[in-house]
Amino acid sequence: MSDLLGPAGPAQRRALAKAITLLESTRPEHRVQADALLNAVLPHTGAALRLGLSGVPGVGKSSFIEALGLMLVDQGHRVAVLAVDPSSSLGGGSILGDKTRMERLSVHPSAYIRPTPSSGALGGVAERTRETILLAEAAGHDIVIVETVGVGQSETAVAGMTDLFCLLQLPNAGDDLQAIKKGVMELADLVVIHKADLDAAAATRAQAQITSALRFFGPHATHGVPVLQASAITGQGLVEFWSTVRAQHDARRASGALQARRKAQDEAWLWERIHAGVQQRFREHPAVRAALPGVLSDIRDGRLAASVAARQLLDLAAP
Ligand code: GDP
Repeated sequence: MSDLLGPAGPAQRRALAKAITLLESTRPEHRVQADALLNAVLPHTGAALRLGLSGVPGVGKSSFIEALGLMLVDQGHRVAVLAVDPSSSLGGGSILGDKTRMERLSVHPSAYIRPTPSSGALGGVAERTRETILLAEAAGHDIVIVETVGVGQSETAVAGMTDLFCLLQLPNAGDDLQAIKKGVMELADLVVIHKADLDAAAATRAQAQITSALRFFGPHATHGVPVLQASAITGQGLVEFWSTVRAQHDARRASGALQARRKAQDEAWLWERIHAGVQQRFREHPAVRAALPGVLSDIRDGRLAASVAARQLLDLAAP
């Protein structure tokens, strides 16, 4: 604990890794220790800029984060990079890859890169990541980047734990707006046409198309979501990207929108975790476990309505 809150350096890095391992442990006594640790560090959290970043595999997320991260550590920032990768919990291997990603950033003393927790359903993985954000902040990282792949529900989870959510798009995506998932676009505070070096004309076209498409989407429709171009390879657009992120963050803090967003995130998270916990306890309840197979076959055979069955099972588990 004191090493975690102490000066930056190898001792703190080890303390952080150890604390994260504790969080990820499934042993109940570790959970008790992890909870105590989280509560103890809580007063030292909240100061970082929390940036979410998503995009399909191959769009260049790790290259972009590495280039951005190297720029930021050069400016004196301390950057933590975390990942939420639902594929790794399905046993199909991680889409976000392993520790060899971001080779240069990962060895930088001002950067901390944590691969995705490798087991559990998305809710559990997201919970670990959310708690890891707090630990990384307590250890003095002033920028926390949470990366996820453009599949499934993980974007919603990451947007729900970060201050700003940024979507990376390929330059040719603008040609096929159908390919852009509306639900994900609605989460975006910022869109980056990445790999702009590949084809400047296509990138500019995509930028215009996405800018106009975004006008029809979601709650941001009136403020306008910035659509930028960038390239991790040439470094084009990185400075502008960061100044846009900073400006949005500062404006939201000044208006109180940032504080409101975090408060809403905490509340949503509380209920999400309560629902998950109640459901797990319910499933593990001995009377429910005993009755469930019979109830399921009654439902299947049309002898029992599902809603009636639910009420009966809930009664069985009532305290
Ligand atoms: P991720 O799967 O989204 O993390 O993508 P990666 O960062 O692993 O990049 C996928 C591929 O795109 C790699 O071969 C990179 O070298 C390449 N790449 C990444 N960024 C750029 C870029 O800005 N321009 C170009 N031309 N290629 C890039």
